[in-house]
Parts: sequence; structure tokens; C-alpha cells
Amino acid sequence: MSKGSFEYVDITLLKQLEQRLEGREGKEESKIFKTCPRCKVRKPLPQFTTDKRNTNGRTNVCKVCKVIEYLKYYYGDRERILTVNKKYRDDHRGERTKYFQDYQENHKEHLQKVGKAWYKKNRQRIKKKRLKLKVNLK
Ligand SMILES: [Zn+2]
Repeated sequence: MSKGSFEYVDITLLKQLEQRLEGREGKEESKIFKTCPRCKVRKPLPQFTTDKRNTNGRTNVCKVCKVIEYLKYYYGDRERILTVNKKYRDDHRGERTKYFQDYQENHKEHLQKVGKAWYKKNRQRIKKKRLKLKVNLK
């Protein structure tokens, strides 16, 4: 991918992320602030990813800086990362499918219970959706 597309992805993704974080800020009403060492901005705690190893339970670098870091890493080394990921998928083909099949087989009762509970909780929503579908089909 060319350098131009990096700029494009970078900006749209970051804007989305910042908007989402701003929207969440009001809801969580955090009174705790932390200064990010990368962007030097004081931000409320929810704007830092959780990290159990840290004493305050959050990473030092804020979420936005983490995304920038990742995008730089990804687009700086995209070819190699894609090759490594593809090799991993090729080497482990079918393992995930088998894992999920085994899991379903071994956790049948649990999955049924969870599924039933989910259906009960979302029954109204599902019915509404089905009704909408019927109307659309007519
Ligand atoms: Zn930052």
C-alpha cells in the first residue's frame, strides 16, 4: 500500500476513535485524570486501556496514541506482517474450526443454557426484527 493510503486510514480512524471516546467520557464521569507521556495531554482514565500489571489498572499511553503506534507499525511493515499472518493461518489450517467443534461438543449443556437465556432476554427485539423482515418482504 502506498504512503497516501496510510494518511487516509490514519485520520479517519483516529477521528472516529476520538469521537467515540468523547461520547463515552460523559457517561463514565471519571474524576481521575492521567497525563499521557506521548501526546502530553491530560485525559480521563477511561481513555487509557486497562492493564492489570499497572498499579492504577491502566496503561501509561492513551488509547489514541496506542492506535497511532499500531498504525505506524502496521503500515511501516505491512508486507511482512501480512506474510507472517498468512503463514500462521496456513500452518494452523483447520485448528480453529476443530477447536470450536470440540468446544461445542463438550459444552453442549452450557451453550444451550446460555442460548436460552439470551433468547429470553432478547425475545422482544428478535420478534420486532422478524416482523420488520416480513413487512419488507411483502
Ligand atoms: Zn496520548
